[in-house]
Amino acid sequence: MNNKINTSLFVACRQCDALYDKLQLKQGQLAKCNRCGGILIERKVDFIERSFNWSLAGLILMLPAILLPIMGVTLAGQYNQASLFDCILVLIDRGFFMIACLVFLFAIAVPIVRLVGVFYISYCFKFNKLKPSLLSFFRAYHHLDNWAMLNVFMLAIVVSMYKLIDDTELSVNLGLLAFIFWLICSTMSSVVLDQNYIWEKLDQAFAKDEA
Ligand SMILES: [Zn+2]
Repeated sequence: MNNKINTSLFVACRQCDALYDKLQLKQGQLAKCNRCGGILIERKVDFIERSFNWSLAGLILMLPAILLPIMGVTLAGQYNQASLFDCILVLIDRGFFMIACLVFLFAIAVPIVRLVGVFYISYCFKFNKLKPSLLSFFRAYHHLDNWAMLNVFMLAIVVSMYKLIDDTELSVNLGLLAFIFWLICSTMSSVVLDQNYIWEKLDQAFAKDEA
C-alpha cells in the first residue's frame, strides 16, 4: 500500500494554514487565500531566464565585490583601504578567529554557494537538462536560502561609515559599488526564482523514482 500523500493536489496558505485544491495557473497569474488574503501561489513571468541572468551577473560581480577595496580611511595623515577579504585577514591577524569564520561563512561562502545554486538550477531548466539529482540539490538550496547574510554585512558597512564620518576622511571605493550590485543580484536571483514551479516540475519528473 502506498501511504504517500499526493502533495501536488493541495496548497496551504503560509499565513493562516487554510488548505485549498491546487489550481493550474498561467504565467503572471496569482492565487490568493479567501480567508486572509495572503498569496498562495504566484506563477512568475519568464523566471528561468531572469534568475539565470541575475545569478550570472552575481557570479561575475563576486570577485570584484570580495577583492576590491570597499572604503578608504585617512586617519592622522595615513590612508588605508580595505576589501571584504582584507577585513577577514585583519580579524584573523587580531585573533578574532570565530568572527572571521562567521564573516567568511555568511558574507562570502553561503552567498556564493547560493548564487551557484540558482545559476545551476536555472541553467538546467533553461537548457532542459533535468536530472534526478536536482531534487536533492534543490532541497539543499532551500535550507541554504535562509543563511545568506550579505544584507547584514551591508548594514555593518553603513553603520561603520556613519560612525567614522565625523573623525576621519572617508572615501568610497569601487568595491562598495560592486558589493551593492552583488547584493542586489544575489537577492533578485533568489526572489525571481519560482520555487513552487520548480518543485512541481521536479516532482512530476522524478518523485516517482524516489518513492
Ligand atoms: Zn490564508
